[in-house]
Amino acid sequence: SVYVDYAATTPFDKKILEEVVDNAENFGNPSSIHRIGKNAKADLQNYRRKIAECINAKPNEIILTSGATEANNLAIKGIAKGHANPHFITTDIEHASVRNTYQDLSEEYDVTFLSAKENGQIDAEELKNSLKDNTVLVSVMMVNNETGSMQPVFEIAEVLKAHGALFHVDAVQGFGHMDVDVENLGADLLTLSGHKIYGPKGIGLLYLKEGIKLSAQITGGSHELSRRAGTENIMWIQAFSLAMEKAKAHRSKRTIKEMQMKERFINELIEKKIPFEVNGDVNNQTSHIVNVYFDWTEAEFLLTALDMAGIFVSAGSACNAGTVQPSHVIRSMYDDEERALKSIRFSFSHLMAEEDITEIAAQLEIIYNRLNKREMI
Ligand code: PLP
Repeated sequence: SVYVDYAATTPFDKKILEEVVDNAENFGNPSSIHRIGKNAKADLQNYRRKIAECINAKPNEIILTSGATEANNLAIKGIAKGHANPHFITTDIEHASVRNTYQDLSEEYDVTFLSAKENGQIDAEELKNSLKDNTVLVSVMMVNNETGSMQPVFEIAEVLKAHGALFHVDAVQGFGHMDVDVENLGADLLTLSGHKIYGPKGIGLLYLKEGIKLSAQITGGSHELSRRAGTENIMWIQAFSLAMEKAKAHRSKRTIKEMQMKERFINELIEKKIPFEVNGDVNNQTSHIVNVYFDWTEAEFLLTALDMAGIFVSAGSACNAGTVQPSHVIRSMYDDEERALKSIRFSFSHLMAEEDITEIAAQLEIIYNRLNKREMI
């Protein structure tokens, strides 16, 4: 069988887990003032410093959370709360944790949702024209999780610098595949998640540039400089720091391998004459994701057939109660309901081998031939 859904989640690196387990004796509560607590606090400071260094931030700019969903909620609601009459700009193609949060806010506040072009990107010029005097926050993801399309975040940062609105970047699918440097990027807020980079699920962060005020969404103690209460998940924070360091150190090696897998996959589809189209501009996408439109079958059927054949993949769209919904990302790009129902995301890893790609293509060919009564070629 072949898992080819690494954008959904990655396996937890066992070496990292072992290192965390080895350190389990240092179990103290970092808020305790005795020596056991102080030892844990020293560890926590050390992990936070390493995490911050990976994105060129300062330790006090890192708010550790239960994942990117919480970090995105904190960013948006935490900034919204401090303003009387705010306007926000985001896109139709954000992850649900951003889109649905803005959807809720739009009942009370003015929110502009920008759609994507057929190349998978939103238009920085359109964003510029949507700015208002009271625009306080703009949320645009670095890399789309369904198509891998890279968004024009550098251009947007420039536009916002001149305007004064804050820039929130969901970099969950960017980190580990491209350079994520908050200074260079010009982000004011930025989100990351542990489980997309071979770390654990249930850990993530919000980078918040020094000096920006944010209202806590989880209140209690004064943890995370009073921006997120709750005893720190120190073991997962250690694992997150190790996963980030490893992802950064091995980025070029890993992305080259991912790209090889992606290119080989596309080439095999061509060789086997399986009709397909890549959604978006393949030359402007990360190494680990490709989203493919197969006009000859519905994604729901294909996912099930592939699952039975031992190929584990996603439609890249929200899976509600086991049914595949038309992808909001593909719909935003092409305004085509049918295309949105017939597209599948394949996402690759440096852990894969060429034989895995051969197996995926072979199973796709069998399904295609069966459906179209075509003889094997
Ligand atoms: N943002 C993007 C772009 C994602 O791909 C994901 C992953 O599902 C998230 C946010 C949510 O991350 P988490 O699972 O850590 O809540």
